[in-house]
Amino acid sequence: MPELPEVETVRGGLAPVLEGQRLARVEARRPDLRFPFPDNFVQELTGARIVRLDRRAKYLLARLDREATLVMHLGMSGRFEIARPDGATPGAVRPGEFHYAPDPDPKHAHVVFETDAGARVTYYDPRRFGFMGLVDTATLELHPWFAGMGPEPLSDAFDAQHLTQAFAGRKQGPKTLLLDQRVVAGLGNIYVCEALHRARISPFKPAGRVAGPRLAALVATVKAVLAEAIVAGGSSLRDYAQADGALGYFQHRFRVYDREGRACPNEGCQGVIARRVQAGRSTFYCPACQK
Ligand SMILES: [Zn+2]
Repeated sequence: MPELPEVETVRGGLAPVLEGQRLARVEARRPDLRFPFPDNFVQELTGARIVRLDRRAKYLLARLDREATLVMHLGMSGRFEIARPDGATPGAVRPGEFHYAPDPDPKHAHVVFETDAGARVTYYDPRRFGFMGLVDTATLELHPWFAGMGPEPLSDAFDAQHLTQAFAGRKQGPKTLLLDQRVVAGLGNIYVCEALHRARISPFKPAGRVAGPRLAALVATVKAVLAEAIVAGGSSLRDYAQADGALGYFQHRFRVYDREGRACPNEGCQGVIARRVQAGRSTFYCPACQK
């Protein structure tokens, strides 16, 4: 499932071909993804110019020169592929420490955007948990997809003071709270496990009992693990885009996620990474150094 750094990498890959461009042709090849497309989806987008491509949590926001914003969510398996006017065709490239999903099957190509500069952007989604909608730009923050959403983890609004207030008196573990979109937007299981491990904070300890200075460190590690993954994604994207323009997911080399039974990589720790399943989700952590 794409997490925030993957979505940001996709945004970074799509922006050069979409920003400032007019959509000459839009095709929805089925009536729905996870949700039905709006009735006016194709008409509203055809001829619209994409002013800017933003991200909020794990949503891509294509700001249009119209009253609506095109909102896109990749769900579990959504991905984009770019075909350039020179006819470059996709192929499997798996640079460095990243790996990509298998080549997309044409039967899972559900939405096609063509710009007046001749680029074609195709959305593939085998499982169709992704979705697209048109949301009134002026009231976007009030839309159910966004209402009540906490600050972006990489923004200045996500700071030690914010986390201190969010954790105060809470009995749930830090992991549960960091996954709560009202506390901070867009964080998923993988990066929360990584950040808590690097900050040496137990995922299960009552959040209200994590002392203040450790929360400042936790904020810094959340930002660091996301920023590192975005940088890694960006460099993989440059390699990949040169080859064929396809945008896949990348999998970062994680320190704790999916590493049960391995030695803890934290300096000076002799512990072994453990896994505990809660509510169907695995938490990877080091029982020795995460207190
Ligand atoms: Zn450890």
